[in-house]
Amino acid sequence: MSIFFTSHGAAGTVTGSKHLLEIDRNDGTRYRVLLDCGMFQGEAVYDAKHDPNRTFGFDPATIDVLVLSHAHIDHSGLVPRLVAEGFDGPIWCTPATEDLCTIMLADSAHIQEYDYNYDVKRAQRKGQKPEEDGPLYTKDDVQPALELFQTLEYATTKEILPGITLTFTDAGHILGSAAVHLDIVDGDRTLRFSFSGDVGRYVDRLLPEPVPFRQADVIVCESTYGDRDHEPVKEAEDELLRHVTDVCVKNKGKLLIPAFSIGKTQEILYTLNTLSNEGRLPRIPVYVDSPLAISATMISRANSALFREEVRAELAKDPDLFTFLGVEYVRSADRSKQLNGVEGPCIIIAASGMMEAGRIRHHLRNELADGANAVLAVGFCAPGTLGAKLLEGAKEVNIFGEVVPVNARILRMEFYSAHADRMELVRYLGCQDPKKVKRTFLVHGVEKSIEGLRGLLQSKGYKHIEAPVRGQRFEI
Ligand SMILES: [Zn+2]
Repeated sequence: MSIFFTSHGAAGTVTGSKHLLEIDRNDGTRYRVLLDCGMFQGEAVYDAKHDPNRTFGFDPATIDVLVLSHAHIDHSGLVPRLVAEGFDGPIWCTPATEDLCTIMLADSAHIQEYDYNYDVKRAQRKGQKPEEDGPLYTKDDVQPALELFQTLEYATTKEILPGITLTFTDAGHILGSAAVHLDIVDGDRTLRFSFSGDVGRYVDRLLPEPVPFRQADVIVCESTYGDRDHEPVKEAEDELLRHVTDVCVKNKGKLLIPAFSIGKTQEILYTLNTLSNEGRLPRIPVYVDSPLAISATMISRANSALFREEVRAELAKDPDLFTFLGVEYVRSADRSKQLNGVEGPCIIIAASGMMEAGRIRHHLRNELADGANAVLAVGFCAPGTLGAKLLEGAKEVNIFGEVVPVNARILRMEFYSAHADRMELVRYLGCQDPKKVKRTFLVHGVEKSIEGLRGLLQSKGYKHIEAPVRGQRFEI
């Protein structure tokens, strides 16, 4: 049996997660398993001569099975395009990932169409043709993709192809997130392959800690924060309350919180709900301005069985951990526009987390110039994104073709980072005997973070650690 591993995305970068396993058995049977089918975002798209989202690097029709680690768009966002280009096999994921993909992929299709129409209009104004001949995919491409989804609960094993079994373990990253474990058997040889997906943190939040997994021969591990440790975890409630008090009570300003609709928004609402239950939250309107976040919050409520045990116990006293006095869920675009004229202090939570899309951009355009306001960044912003520019201290930024001065304060809270830091990744891999791991591939990180993690893992006894570049094929 020959098995080849190739990263077609999230190789030396943090977006576009896509990893291909090619399994050629001695009896001549061949299987192609794709792990994740994510979209490239930020610098990865802008710096490329050709949009990397338009070339997979393989023929989608040759893939037998797709396995998704979780619903984040940089891990699932190209599924409709994969299907439109000929993939018709099963798509395995956890039930919560399917629920989240249902809303996220429809939302993503909407964004693709909107962005493309914007490009067309801009090109027309200049008397030119748009660079691309259509959006990445449309709403019509989403349903055929969703029909291919099949679900598997954590810690149950399923034969997904002859001699290839799949098991998910909870990665503690977002609702439904999983590490993917494949046992590939051919005669006497078994290869135990594990893909971490995105690894969550060992802090007390909504979701449980990442779960240990069985000994692997080959590990593909994320390395987003492979070169640094998060600040020691302070009480999230106290830190968030301090920002709310400073910005909204003392400065009478608006606090904008750009947040992924899935995961981060619910974590922040949970903290605000706790503060409200304790009577500590000032009486300030809180707007959740994202239809996707509203749908994701409903899915979270319905999946409370996946919450950490202590959080589940709270449900007896407070059956809705995401709703409290003063919170308004804003679905309609008209109401969202009204928020631009709202006087006085408030908190606005809106997507996207990296500030590249979604309603947050309208609020940033309106509020960044006012020094009384603040932006609270709560997650990773890929290089080149608007979020990264603000965090780097840009004095002005370009939003919707307008130059906007940045007078608002840019704040940061690491508590809500959904990614394990350097030591947490090592802790996560602590379930493994490094001597038995034949090969380790570090993905989903920039060069600095990959090299940081590589050094640390080598000191723990890991050998043969690879940092694949996009399209590099390894026999494993
Ligand atoms: Zn993720």
